[in-house]
Amino acid sequence: MKTAVLGGGISGLSAGYYLLRKFGKPLTIYEASPRVGGWIRSEWHKERGFLFESGPRTIRPKGIAGANTLELVDQLNLPIKPIRASHVAARNRMLYAKGQICLLPNSPRGLIGTVPPFTKPLYRALLHDLTTGGTVAKNEDESIYSFAQRRFGKEIADYAISPMICGICAGDAREISVRFLMESLFEKEQKYGGVIKGMLYSRFKNNVDESKVGLFDQDEPKLFKQAVQEKWAMYGLADGLEQLPRALRKYLGEHDVNVQLSSKCHNLSFNNDGARISVRDVDLPVAHVVSSLPAHQLAPLVRTQHPSLAAQLLDIPYVDVVVVNLQYNSDRLLKQNGFGLLVPPVEKLPVLGVIFDSCCFDMAGNTILTVMMGGRWFDKWFGHQPSQKELRDIAQLHVRKILHIKEEPNFSRVHTLHKCIPQYTVGHKRRVENIRSYIKNYKLPLSLCGAAYDGVGINDVILSARRQVNKLPVHQPPPGH
Ligand SMILES: Cc1cc2nc3c(=O)[nH]c(=O)nc-3n(C[C@H](O)[C@H](O)[C@H](O)COP(=O)(O)OP(=O)(O)OC[C@H]3O[C@@H](n4cnc5c(N)ncnc54)[C@H](O)[C@@H]3O)c2cc1C
Repeated sequence: MKTAVLGGGISGLSAGYYLLRKFGKPLTIYEASPRVGGWIRSEWHKERGFLFESGPRTIRPKGIAGANTLELVDQLNLPIKPIRASHVAARNRMLYAKGQICLLPNSPRGLIGTVPPFTKPLYRALLHDLTTGGTVAKNEDESIYSFAQRRFGKEIADYAISPMICGICAGDAREISVRFLMESLFEKEQKYGGVIKGMLYSRFKNNVDESKVGLFDQDEPKLFKQAVQEKWAMYGLADGLEQLPRALRKYLGEHDVNVQLSSKCHNLSFNNDGARISVRDVDLPVAHVVSSLPAHQLAPLVRTQHPSLAAQLLDIPYVDVVVVNLQYNSDRLLKQNGFGLLVPPVEKLPVLGVIFDSCCFDMAGNTILTVMMGGRWFDKWFGHQPSQKELRDIAQLHVRKILHIKEEPNFSRVHTLHKCIPQYTVGHKRRVENIRSYIKNYKLPLSLCGAAYDGVGINDVILSARRQVNKLPVHQPPPGH
């Protein structure tokens, strides 16, 4: 009997890769759509030298998760396009707030003066943390907005944290768990009564990063060392990020792993011998299942046998995002170069942010912009099933208003990505622990990876796949035997 991976997005393919390395075959990946990659989708216009990404476009090379992806990218021999810390796209990040584009400070000197949209120098936010005591009752969790407001003041919560959350998960900082991005700061505050105090105390402690232990075969991956040495801030791939899932699929195919496209799993049940999956009206016995499916897609598969597990999976909410890619023939349209801009939700605009793709990577004389819209506020702004034309018009209107670009784009694409980003709302960590405890208590031969559980970025989901595979015992009985 074999191991089955559900989903051929980047996490499912990565799970396949790590399963192959650990256990060998037989192993099959079942993907519902006719292509691999999930939300990673690149449209490379070779003749015009530009690229549209409708999902992710850059990966950060930081930390253990960044090192892990670089190891994979290196093993697949993919051509990397690094963006160094000195590059304009790494240095310049902007907000559109209070009717103007505001360049965010990118050095410690920026803490001293008053930079719009803030009305006070940013060092005052640090003073606020130092002079404000910790919470009396210890919290298990709270929203990242309320944490930032408590520690650094409302302006930081509105103009720094809220837009950052829009940029990362298209969510509302008032709902997203502080543990999503600031778990260690939150825990320092809970322990030492303040973020800065906590940071100072922990500097004197001998901190070993337990998460790294045992992950890499030998030393840190060589490409990661290069990224550190050369100060990469982020990177993309030549011809787009879709090259990563494509290369993984090729690698798996060359090693006799079956990647079955257009093969949606309709049901998943468990018995004493393992599991049964229903694919294309056939009921297949498998030893172990690794699901990389979005939680809301896995829930209906297990509902008949495990309704309470299904209900817990459905408690992880998702948002819809509109992505509008725009191409202009001239490369002199932007007045300020940079990675792009974010729009704080207090501005009450349908736009979450605009990415300046042609500042990040060379686009052969074109200006390429990506407008992200909707997210947590999708229904409020776009109601039910907005047309592509309506969405394109709204995106262009805001490009005109915010960036003063009067020209019509030469070429554009509109994608409405339904339920594309899970929301790690307050209590998420506990929710995921409960889901995994349920699986453990019922001894289900099921592992969960993917964006629903351990982080929403590409690095997170690849690492999540690796960790779940690492947890499987190599003996008694290894999956697939
Ligand atoms: C607009 C946008 C921009 C982003 N930008 C970035 C970025 O710049 N950097 C970054 O690091 N991350 C970014 N991300 C996040 C990143 O794209 C995700 O973390 C990653 O793609 C999630 O991969 P996944 O494999 O977990 O899920 P998915 O991509 O959702 O893959 C799941 C797969 O399962 C398949 N499936 C569903 N149901 C079934 C079924 N019943 N049977 C079989 N198959 C099924 C689906 O077809 C899909 O292929 C972005 C995401 C979005 C939406």
